[in-house]
Amino acid sequence: MTNSANRFSTLPDADALLEFDQRHIWHPYSSATNPTPTFVVERCEGSYIELSDGKKLIDGMGSWWCTIHGYNHPRLNAAAEKQLKSMSHVMFGGLTHRPAVELCQKLVALTPSNLERVFLADSGSVAVEVALKMAIQYQASRGKSNKAKILTVRRGYHGDTFGAMSTCDPINGMHHLFARSMPTHFFADEPPMGIDRPLTPHDLASARSILEVHHKEIAALIIEPIVQGAGGMRFYSAEYLSALKALCEEFDILMIADEIATGFGRTGQLFAVNHADVQPDIMCLGKAITGGYMTLAATLCSEEVATTISQGEAGVFMHGPTFMGNPLACAVACESIELLLETDWQSNVTRIETKLEELLGPLRSAEYIADVRVLGAIGVVELENSVSLNDIQPALVAEGIWLRPFGKLVYMMPPFNMSDEELSILCKGTANVLEKLHKN
Ligand code: PMP
Repeated sequence: MTNSANRFSTLPDADALLEFDQRHIWHPYSSATNPTPTFVVERCEGSYIELSDGKKLIDGMGSWWCTIHGYNHPRLNAAAEKQLKSMSHVMFGGLTHRPAVELCQKLVALTPSNLERVFLADSGSVAVEVALKMAIQYQASRGKSNKAKILTVRRGYHGDTFGAMSTCDPINGMHHLFARSMPTHFFADEPPMGIDRPLTPHDLASARSILEVHHKEIAALIIEPIVQGAGGMRFYSAEYLSALKALCEEFDILMIADEIATGFGRTGQLFAVNHADVQPDIMCLGKAITGGYMTLAATLCSEEVATTISQGEAGVFMHGPTFMGNPLACAVACESIELLLETDWQSNVTRIETKLEELLGPLRSAEYIADVRVLGAIGVVELENSVSLNDIQPALVAEGIWLRPFGKLVYMMPPFNMSDEELSILCKGTANVLEKLHKN
């Protein structure tokens, strides 16, 4: 054991934790030699993250789209505790259990009516891998093994595993680093921005021309409906999504809706496809599915996809993670969904949308702000220039705010029960920090 490991076991104060952390632990997209500022969290409650020095930060990130009910929710805690008493985990091969069945009942009932089969996965990226494999196995099972490539649009983000990464935007998805090891797919132009922007014939020209030439090689289109998240926080119209679905049908390819970030109310509809009344053939869910308590994801597909795969060469769908259907996660997910549906979540999301527009909208006139856009409980401030995390993160923390900007994007997706007063503190504090950074 190294010195710092020894110290960790005997001296778990915040400084020792941080020292060990910086010496030994990878964080998301982190450098081992030049770590970004990292803060030790002691506890979280409602809309707040409490640091080890007692400082409370108002959380604008919902822990990356997940905590729709806020932290440390008594109902979710109780559901986890109750489930722990019977089993936290049991394998899913040959066994099933109430939490998984109840969760899948809810998912089948709430998602578009054609989606009838659920595959429970461990994380968003795995749910995307599962979706891609489903599409490819489906095509092979109907005698179309050549249809094994994926079509997507630029500026998308679908996860960090190889299959998912290969469908992320080729430029900001860092394809070149892994180019020799990664499958290559087809990229159409990004959707034009603007929720209300009328569709023009040009918008789908690039997707159409790829399909005209390559449809015999393409199994499916994967897309984040309405909101492109980590690839640029871009919002596009329901009309565009519907037109893309029509194109999928015309060229006999499946549509995979990646609702991992948008699912469970974030955009103002329970699922973002509902803005367009589109029925995807496959849908991925994750993040907010457990209310942010633990990792769980799901890939749903139509009966047609499921039965075709099952009547194909393999006779089974070829995927089965160890922690599939984890009962603890399923029990909390059931409770989180019940909680969501019991509350007037849609009014809450509309309230947040109005408040974010009111509080962030005036920033549009600042010279250092390129754009402000708001949809549902998502607020995005796009800066003219990229901001360094080393500068902005400590400044936000000093202001009592937790946000995790990237590049030119300072964005927020608060829990749905964040109060107007808290939203006001969050947005005004963010505006103060941006102005101070601009002046320096
Ligand atoms: N798809 C989308 C749209 C996402 O936003 C994310 C996560 N940011 C993923 C997939 C991957 O999910 P995970 O990080 O749970 O693997």
